[in-house]
Amino acid sequence: MSTDTSPRSNAALFERAQKVIPGGVNSPVRAFRAVGGTPRFIASASGAYIVDVEGKRYIDYIGSWGPMILGHGHPAVLDAVQRAAAEGFSYGAPTEREVELAEAILALVPSCEQIRLVSSGTEAAMSAIRLARGATGRAKLIKFEGCYHGHADALLVKAGSGLATFGNPTSAGVPPEVVQHTLVLEYNNLEQLEEAFKIHGDDLACVMIEPIAGNMNFVRASLPFMKRIRELCTQHGALFVFDEVMTGFRVALGSAQSIYAQALPSFAPDISVFGKVIGGGMPLAAFGASRKIMSELAPLGPVYQAGTLSGNPVATACGLATLREISKPGFFEALGQRTRQLSDGLASTAKAAGIDFVSDSQGGMFGFFFSKTLPQNYPAVMATDKDRFNRWFHLMLDRGVYLAPALYEAGFVSAAHGQAEIDATLLAARESFASL
Ligand SMILES: *Cc1c(COP(=O)(O)O)cnc(C)c1O
Repeated sequence: MSTDTSPRSNAALFERAQKVIPGGVNSPVRAFRAVGGTPRFIASASGAYIVDVEGKRYIDYIGSWGPMILGHGHPAVLDAVQRAAAEGFSYGAPTEREVELAEAILALVPSCEQIRLVSSGTEAAMSAIRLARGATGRAKLIKFEGCYHGHADALLVKAGSGLATFGNPTSAGVPPEVVQHTLVLEYNNLEQLEEAFKIHGDDLACVMIEPIAGNMNFVRASLPFMKRIRELCTQHGALFVFDEVMTGFRVALGSAQSIYAQALPSFAPDISVFGKVIGGGMPLAAFGASRKIMSELAPLGPVYQAGTLSGNPVATACGLATLREISKPGFFEALGQRTRQLSDGLASTAKAAGIDFVSDSQGGMFGFFFSKTLPQNYPAVMATDKDRFNRWFHLMLDRGVYLAPALYEAGFVSAAHGQAEIDATLLAARESFASL
């Protein structure tokens, strides 16, 4: 743990930050509240590594919470961003690059015929809900405990990330009337789903889900659960919304929906929400659907939605360059193998140390739990061994491995993570398990 208080130390910066920024951070999980200790202030990053202000280097398994799928400072992306910046930061007028990015996304996601670009996942999810309500003329929606869809008022109902450990099942400042139409169900619970549709089915605008829930670490929606949501939505005229802000272009080139579509014939969501990877580290997100649903949006239809910086020329350059790289043949096979090697390696290392530990991965996203079995829902995630996780997190951090600072967050591997980084991580893991 950092005790150095020289002006460029993490501790000194954290103290200074807390004077001018609430909690010293601009997004709660960065404050290390869940695991304790001093957050690292990052000075720079390159490839698979980040370097803090004290000059300590870490293997980065957060990757800005997903976007940095190519690693930091990928030459092609850097070049695209620098060229775009030189041409102008923002015009507030349409550009060719927005069209190119829309075309690139749609080519990879057959369930969407049109897409609109926005600046954050929160904005995209919020807009998707408004679109679903506008398109159906209904108000009610279902979300699942432990899934995070950004911090729009209507969705801050027992949200997972951040709020979970802060002991705020719902945020202050959200009037009860605003969430009165939001139903929160247990993830992977078929019985609750059936019950909810029996009561509210014909009043439901949509069901929103993280297909692989990355805001409660890593929990897959089971095939029967997904299949049944799809059937019930179709039967009752509700829209099925996939929040792929984290999983999109991260777990597979076609996103999580391509994995479910492989297992379930003709499976597709009605609306999809993207973010993180499609911006490559710049503020960019999107939501898309069929042409019919998207035509409800202004300026064509009555559902209002807008943004000064939407489709920003520098952000779209970054996103496009990122998508180009990950679309290259073999990219996801290699990334998936490396990630699986890490995830399996951690599990076997823990097993050798006699520690209850399970892990899973898909594409470049992974999760692990101090537990005998993989949790299937939020209560089960929160029942895993938190003390062990927290101690292990710090042991790994001391050894230069930067994992997500909370047991309910997923991990990310980038294309810049090579055999050397995986080996170093597993060595650190062996020592850390031994010290537990
Ligand atoms: C990160 C995330 C969001 C919110 O995106 P921001 O860009 O942080 O607003 C929404 N949904 C999911 C599934 C996410 O992982």
